[in-house]
Amino acid sequence: MQLFIKKFTFNPFQENTYIVYGQDKSAVIIDPGCSTSFERNELVNFIDDNNLNVKALLNTHCHIDHVFGNAFVMEKYKVDFYMHPLDIPLLALAERSAQVYGIDGFVPSPQPTQLIEDGQILKFDDIQLNVILGPGHAPGHVMFYSLENEFVISGDIVIQGAFGRVDLPGGDIEVLKNTIFNRLFTLPDETIIFSGHGGESTVGIEKVSNMILKV
Ligand SMILES: [Zn+2]
Ligand SMILES: [Zn+2]
Repeated sequence: MQLFIKKFTFNPFQENTYIVYGQDKSAVIIDPGCSTSFERNELVNFIDDNNLNVKALLNTHCHIDHVFGNAFVMEKYKVDFYMHPLDIPLLALAERSAQVYGIDGFVPSPQPTQLIEDGQILKFDDIQLNVILGPGHAPGHVMFYSLENEFVISGDIVIQGAFGRVDLPGGDIEVLKNTIFNRLFTLPDETIIFSGHGGESTVGIEKVSNMILKV
């Protein structure tokens, strides 16, 4: 099934939020970073303008910049929230981060309603995504992969030539290297990487240019 991707860049951390949707108008929202009413409207307007039927909220991981809009999306669309259990501690930390960064009006994310695991296939009508666990930047970090559509939504594992921070709680450079070399880089070269920050890349490009090669 052909899938389409809409990208938004939200909040002070310039985080990428994605909507993946099918020809049948089924849609999932991945890492909703919308933090203001303006950003929330942008998300909702796209969904309304395209008559999308939101089926689920998915998180690659639960750093604050990726969960700003979780409560809003769950409340607005009455959908389940899917994430990996190893990132649950980060949900609580996000609330503290909001205070540290002095972010007003942060609405804490609800707890997940569906826990996902490595190798699981998520299916929402026309949408099918494979879950690939990829720790190192965050302990329960996952990628959402479509072989047929040749893309991976990979959160903060790699960010166009660079890799995600490992100095945050739960971060580990050796674990991240293993994720990049043995999981991300084993996907076909033509796979488009949609990262949590910055522009798109491909597995083939990152395999020859990513800074992780020099670490
Ligand atoms: Zn992150
Ligand atoms: Zn991020």
